[in-house]
Amino acid sequence: MGQPVSFRCVGCGREYEPWSIDYHCPHCGPLSGPLEVVYDLRGLASRLTPSSFAETRRPSLWRYEELLPVGIEHSVPLRAGWTPLYARPELAAELGLAALWIKDDSLNPTASYKDRATAVVIAAARHLGRAALTCASTGNTASSVAGFCAAAGMPAYIFVPEKTPRPKIAQLLAFGATVFAVEGDYSRAQRLCEEARDRFGWYDRSDGVSPINAEGKKTGAYEIWEQLDGKVPDYVLVSVGDGSVISGICKGFLELRELGLAEDVPRVYGVQAEGAAAVAHAFARKKRGEEILPAEEPAETLADSICVGNPKDVVKAVTYVDRTGGGFVTVSDGEIIGAVGELARKAGVFAEPAAAATYAGLIALLTTGEIPEGSRAALVITGSGLKNPEGALRAVGEPLKVPPDIAAVERIILPMGYED
Ligand SMILES: *Cc1c(COP(=O)(O)O)cnc(C)c1O
Ligand SMILES: [Zn+2]
Repeated sequence: MGQPVSFRCVGCGREYEPWSIDYHCPHCGPLSGPLEVVYDLRGLASRLTPSSFAETRRPSLWRYEELLPVGIEHSVPLRAGWTPLYARPELAAELGLAALWIKDDSLNPTASYKDRATAVVIAAARHLGRAALTCASTGNTASSVAGFCAAAGMPAYIFVPEKTPRPKIAQLLAFGATVFAVEGDYSRAQRLCEEARDRFGWYDRSDGVSPINAEGKKTGAYEIWEQLDGKVPDYVLVSVGDGSVISGICKGFLELRELGLAEDVPRVYGVQAEGAAAVAHAFARKKRGEEILPAEEPAETLADSICVGNPKDVVKAVTYVDRTGGGFVTVSDGEIIGAVGELARKAGVFAEPAAAATYAGLIALLTTGEIPEGSRAALVITGSGLKNPEGALRAVGEPLKVPPDIAAVERIILPMGYED
């Protein structure tokens, strides 16, 4: 495993003994976000080759154990990571791109990108000897924590906003988690979760809280690089709520370059909903030379997984995205809904609205020319459309009603023309 040399604050730069602090910098407080895990990358570079990971023969993110802060011996047997990267040349050509790839992270054990973080965080909790996990979540982190805790035989205490979609809550209860449906919004649930974790000593897997989250989340970048045989795309698009997933993905690409394993870093673009764009606004402030913080704003979008008003990992997200040369784009709820249908029809991948937002963001960036024609782009699909099919139903229309009679089917199909 990759023995961290320190946990560092992205706000003030102070470094702490690894594992001596659970969450954020005691000087800056939670506003600067979780500490970042720092490795001796030069030392690791001398040990690692491009084929080191394949040689482990592990079809999960534990193939990158050398670059993770905990060892596989603490892991839980549920396979997170090593999800497919699909090429979509026809769709790329239609959009004027030289290549388009889809990293389908809906194929994780609980159907979202969040499983990457949970897999590594729960291993860290076991390494630290913690008895239970807790989180506050809009849904996907919660189901991930519930699933991994079930597989580990560890209690899960979960705080969700009361308006969380029913299918997401069903998953939590099925996994046997203790679920608190908190009156009010996501930030209320977060505050209650923090009080409970401090009161009961549970390890907090909420997004933007533990430094270990980004360690799991960076593995998606490693995989894109490995699945492209050591090359990286020109652009990678990631949807953003708290800013944790995008921070992890940027960190992964930046580490690969520092390790000498990749020559380039892709420009990473964050996609937010117009009604919940606190991180995009913070990025714009940074570009104007203003303060990143405070970042709290009202949030309203049907893409519930990215409906975040007080992003917890905003400093890291904004700093790392800038380091890749990328940026942010916002899209409307109408564009997001359209993207759910279009991505499913044209790419065969059914994404939840928050994940399909990356496709809407790609279209927007191609339209403005910020992503030029002939580029090679990848979309990170962070969650499955099956999570909340009601969102998708608004995009797809109605089925064709027929009696159980072949003549009725003929009356519809024959005028359309058909292939046999
Ligand atoms: C959590 C989540 C995101 C955004 O991740 P953040 O770390 O909150 O920025 C995007 N898509 C889906 C499906 C998610 O569950
Ligand atoms: Zn600090």
